[in-house]
Amino acid sequence: QKPVPSDIVISRSCVPKPIDCLAREVGLMSDEVELYGKTKAKVQLDIIKRLQAQPDGKYVVVTGITPTPLGEGKSTTTIGLVQALGAHMKLNVFACVRQPSQGPTFGIKGGAAGGGYSQVIPMEEFNLHLTGDIHAITAANNLVAAAIDARMFHEATQSDKALYNRLVPLSGGQRQFSAIQINRLKKLGIEKTDPTTLTEEEITRFARLDIDPESVTWQRVLDTNDRFLRKITIGQSPTEKGYTREAQFDITVASEIMAVLALTSSLEDMRLRLAKMVVATSRSGEPITTEDLGVSGALAVLMRDAIKPNLMQTLEGTPVFVHAGPFANIAHGNSSILADKIALKLVGPEGFVVTEAGFGADIGMEKFFNIKCRYSGLRPHVVVLVATVRALKMHGGGPTVTAGMPLPKEYVEENLPLLEKGCSNMRKQIENAKHFGVPVVVAVNAFKTDTEAELDLICNMAKTAGAFDAVRCSHWAEGGAGAVALGQAVQRASEAPSNFKFLYDLPIVDKIRIIAQKIYGADDIELVFFFFFFFLCVCVCVCVVIVKPVFWDLLSNKIIGFSNLPICMAKTHLSLSHEADKKGVPTGFILPIRDIRASVGAGFLFPLVGTMPTIPGLPTRPCFYDIDLDPETEQVNGLF
Ligand code: ADP
Repeated sequence: QKPVPSDIVISRSCVPKPIDCLAREVGLMSDEVELYGKTKAKVQLDIIKRLQAQPDGKYVVVTGITPTPLGEGKSTTTIGLVQALGAHMKLNVFACVRQPSQGPTFGIKGGAAGGGYSQVIPMEEFNLHLTGDIHAITAANNLVAAAIDARMFHEATQSDKALYNRLVPLSGGQRQFSAIQINRLKKLGIEKTDPTTLTEEEITRFARLDIDPESVTWQRVLDTNDRFLRKITIGQSPTEKGYTREAQFDITVASEIMAVLALTSSLEDMRLRLAKMVVATSRSGEPITTEDLGVSGALAVLMRDAIKPNLMQTLEGTPVFVHAGPFANIAHGNSSILADKIALKLVGPEGFVVTEAGFGADIGMEKFFNIKCRYSGLRPHVVVLVATVRALKMHGGGPTVTAGMPLPKEYVEENLPLLEKGCSNMRKQIENAKHFGVPVVVAVNAFKTDTEAELDLICNMAKTAGAFDAVRCSHWAEGGAGAVALGQAVQRASEAPSNFKFLYDLPIVDKIRIIAQKIYGADDIELVFFFFFFFLCVCVCVCVVIVKPVFWDLLSNKIIGFSNLPICMAKTHLSLSHEADKKGVPTGFILPIRDIRASVGAGFLFPLVGTMPTIPGLPTRPCFYDIDLDPETEQVNGLF
């Protein structure tokens, strides 16, 4: 077999078709497309109305077994599969993928355009700024952060009357409330529209948000792995008069605004979600929202273009939507609902839309079904579960795999007993997918060191475990031609009867327990923060046995008030359990829930299972060492 060149060399060797031609090919009208140069375009949301009557295509989600830190090829398989279905099987197709963060691109993992002969091109456009959506989120997020601290400062340094007069200034000799301020008055139960008629008590309530600085959960963000911003002190200039506060930066893709973008269904819906985001509580315990801060309209303005999906293409000229990229640990890790919806209309009833869910099936796929599909109303036809020999060997007890280090010999030589043992993880992830009543096709992503016997073993074990089918694929080395068998299996599976169901629809504690027991294989959950809190107040034994679940629900309903929201577990992706080093199918463990937070605008609660990094750091030798620009050709070198 010929050696496969580097991803950037393959990407550059292919001349992409002009994006306006591709847009026409997929059925977009010229006034529905906004060109960003020759290889990227945004698609206007009006198209949803135009294609309202068109039946949807078949909907396929790509997920994986519990991965090694190197990734097992979900993005590569997503792209390989659409190349097979589109360029080789001549069906209408669309891939819908996440926009990668620049953190990993310059840090450890590299880009996320797929790999080998299955890539989104041009990969430098895909991996870097694209059309600026992530930058728009950074700007919007940080506007909220600035608004919070400025508001606390102004409230601390001004009288009620002075605040009110500045918030509702004289204009042409009159004071007038803005639309956002009228919403705030309504929330406070003040049914007045004339600013001169408010009583002193009403003026105080209106003007003072009275934010408790200790309660601020909204953080600043940037799209760089800058570990020194994990904890900072703000307000140190003398101009802030001593109002300093400890704060932190998160990576932009962890911003709630990114999750809002991924889950929204229209401009109107996005405006509402952006207004509902809770950023802190007042000293009396009331949630403070972005609408209370008066910033929600400005957020919608900043996000006006970001809401439109970005059109790109694969190496074989099939269309791709790249849109939104929420973190898969503290957020739900799936690309946008809007891109999927538009793509399903564009491909028509015989076509296929293939979308990818981040991390393994216990994380990204569970959230895809229980959060994304719950909000979108879309029902998938097929789950594609990507498995690799190397990850299954790791689950069988193989040595630790580290990014940037050579693979130990267990991974490059045939070892059937190790592999067979590790197939337990695949079996569990197949079972996890089947909880949702959708047929599962296992895609065995072949690496050059895998042997025939190893690849056969995985296929056989997958079928025995209840997969609809299991096929080996070589799309990394051969492009779409290497995934035709996978495409055919997916086509057959899409015609099989499916019986979609959500995993839960219950009070909070039950939802968390169901995910823990059915998906992760835990014996039970342990509410650690609750336990600690309650321990201080009352007798431990009684509360653990009898009162705990009831109290938990009361607590979450009362304090959070959002118990009807779906759950977005924040757990490591490197194990089915909460401990990253427990491989295979861990059993006999209790899942500790350390805290629970609400992303009200995005629309989920996220229980924290252990501490989750919200901004990665750079390693000693980050990817950026190899990235450079050739000034003569203006080509980017070193991306992967
Ligand atoms: P994931 O989406 O699961 O994180 P990716 O598709 O991004 O994984 O692949 C991770 C890395 O592995 C990429 O650099 C990709 O080029 C490489 N890769 C994927 N499949 C293969 C394969 N079959 N052979 C060699 N390298 C592969």
